[in-house]
Amino acid sequence: MPSQEPKVITGSDPTRVSIEWTDGHVTAYRTSVLRGLCPCAGCVNEVTGVRTHDPVSVPADLTQTDLRLVGHYGLTLRFSDGHDTGIFPFSALRRDGTGED
Ligand SMILES: [Zn+2]
Repeated sequence: MPSQEPKVITGSDPTRVSIEWTDGHVTAYRTSVLRGLCPCAGCVNEVTGVRTHDPVSVPADLTQTDLRLVGHYGLTLRFSDGHDTGIFPFSALRRDGTGED
């Protein structure tokens, strides 16, 4: 059960995703950074947990569309490199965000 839930998720700038949480904390990601955190089976080996997708291969100007909630659990989006299978849990987004915590 997540201890924090997003209040506002903003993807109007396609190179960024920002999340304001219910406690007022804000985390913001560059889209290219978020791509490098993708936890899907195509990016991380499900058995070993080793990342098989190289974040260094992500262009800095990567953009996103189709930002959507996945229940009360996380969010998903389509990256401009065509990748759209990642589900980013709120717990990880909160933990990995750039803001102070
Ligand atoms: Zn992925």
